[in-house]
Amino acid sequence: MSKEDVLVLYPARPKAMEQLEAAYTLHRLDEAEDKAGFLAEHGPRCRGIVTNGHAALTRADLEHLPNLEIVCCSSAGFESIDDAALREKGIALTNSSDALCDDVADTAVMLTLACRRDLVAAHDYVKSGDWGRKGMYPLLSALKGKKVGIAGLGTIGKAIASRLTPFRVCLGYHSRRPKPVDHAYFETVTELARWADILIVIVPGGPETEGMINAEVLEALGPQGTLINVARGSVVNEADLIAALTSGTLGNAGLDVYLNEPNPDPALTALPNVTLYPHHASGTVETRDAMAQTVVDNLRAHFAGEPLLNPVYTLPESVA
Ligand code: NDP
Repeated sequence: MSKEDVLVLYPARPKAMEQLEAAYTLHRLDEAEDKAGFLAEHGPRCRGIVTNGHAALTRADLEHLPNLEIVCCSSAGFESIDDAALREKGIALTNSSDALCDDVADTAVMLTLACRRDLVAAHDYVKSGDWGRKGMYPLLSALKGKKVGIAGLGTIGKAIASRLTPFRVCLGYHSRRPKPVDHAYFETVTELARWADILIVIVPGGPETEGMINAEVLEALGPQGTLINVARGSVVNEADLIAALTSGTLGNAGLDVYLNEPNPDPALTALPNVTLYPHHASGTVETRDAMAQTVVDNLRAHFAGEPLLNPVYTLPESVA
């Protein structure tokens, strides 16, 4: 039996690639020097795509992919993929939110605790001998009883909320539409920030959310407030963030993502009131393997005519 043709825009982890190589004829666009020529030559026979959030897939690319049925993305974010064009053409899209939501939620909680309890500065205080020289570290603010706002109550936002519940905080959230949950809903992110002591951002990237966390939101969060960004660098106006952290308009920030990765603005990274992580919220072996496996499993389900495991949207029956 002939193997289905699958285009690789970005490779999955080695164990997943072994499975894909055994099951399909892979066309490695990721390794091609002349990408446009490679796509024009091999695209028309490909029925599936293996990719992640780093590789672009545009409406123009789809012109060379007339037989494409499914795109399997090994990341949760897919702002580099024109998902509206895929939907229009009846092409399925899968992602890996379910595989990574626990690790990303853990990271949001880790950064929250690190910011609120001064983990990095306190670590240095012990290491440098300042504790012995200067005495007790300044008293901090307890987490219990504080108001935590979550901007984006999707797969990961909900996992963050469930982790924070045992900390006995008050939870509120903002998303495009209210959800059937007990937490307080805020129609705008500025209202949420005004209410909250801590604002955790976990909305998708892309033009709709670009600069959503701006000077107004940061001012509303206030001088005792903490901003945690585990979403995308583009969601926060970084110039406004640097200004707010420098002037004391905002208390502190815990960041996993930046506008310029992997070389974030030194004006941001040099500040004393930031806790920084290198876009590594899903960066564990177990989770990265599980993310890659979603690509294998969704492709297999698709070609077996079974329901997809991690669809981003539902296609009408006639095109599914
Ligand atoms: P989901 O699609 O499950 O949830 C997204 C949430 O954001 C929903 O509640 C949605 O609201 C809300 N939202 C979307 N657009 C807007 C908007 N314009 N204004 C307000 N709220 C909005 O996504 P996930 O939880 O799986 O992932 C969220 C994002 O997290 C990913 O897209 C990715 O960018 C980022 N991420 C970062 C990682 C990291 O390494 N730091 C790892 C994984 C993901 P509604 O439901 O009302 O539509």
